[in-house]
Amino acid sequence: MSIQTRAGTKRGEEELRALASEGAQLDDTDARGVARWAAEHFPGTLAVACSMAEGVLPHLISQDSPGVDVLFLETGYHFADTIGTRARVADELDVTVVDVLPELTVAEQDLKHGPRLYERDPALCCAMRKMEPLARTLAGYEAWVTGVRRDEAPTRTETPLVTFDEKHGLVKINPLVTWSLDDVTAYANEHSVPVNLLMYDGYPSIGCEPCTKRVAPGDDPRSGRWAGLAKTECGIHT
Ligand code: SF4
Repeated sequence: MSIQTRAGTKRGEEELRALASEGAQLDDTDARGVARWAAEHFPGTLAVACSMAEGVLPHLISQDSPGVDVLFLETGYHFADTIGTRARVADELDVTVVDVLPELTVAEQDLKHGPRLYERDPALCCAMRKMEPLARTLAGYEAWVTGVRRDEAPTRTETPLVTFDEKHGLVKINPLVTWSLDDVTAYANEHSVPVNLLMYDGYPSIGCEPCTKRVAPGDDPRSGRWAGLAKTECGIHT
């Protein structure tokens, strides 16, 4: 069965795998070069994932792919500052923010599974509010761009620049793999990109409010995510 994207019929897996292999040869220190390559090979079939910690990745990609879709996982559990940053990214950058919604509202989930599922079974909560909606949405694209960096956590040190995403069946592009948090901040300052104020308040990695805690200066930036639980990733990038 063929899948339709905004730009027509989605290319087959073999072709996308070949493009991923080509992309893997790019210079991983040249984020703008990677953005140009993505624009050239995936016009109208590219999506940018953004947690709204800042708008750096949407800004970078929109330079060569104006109006690009920016996917925001609207779990219903975000900080007010994150929703504010989403609004600024939509208003100030040349992008199209797409809210990726779960099947159930928070109220419906509470009725079906009981309140505060994130405390009792965060894996199920993330599966319903992040992973299923993302997988459903990515099916309509040929490539997605993420802001994953190798320095973010021990689980991310081997992140490739470009790969074929086996789980979602499309090309995955990580142009910021070699960047540090300081590089992200410097880019945001240089280009006047919207930044979530929580970034300056002890939250270098921002997720849903119930599952994100402040971290001490110098600590693993992602140690505030699901703090106190064995869970370190929502499953999107693993
Ligand atoms: S991060 Fe927490 S609140 Fe958000 S979807 Fe996952 S478990 Fe639920």
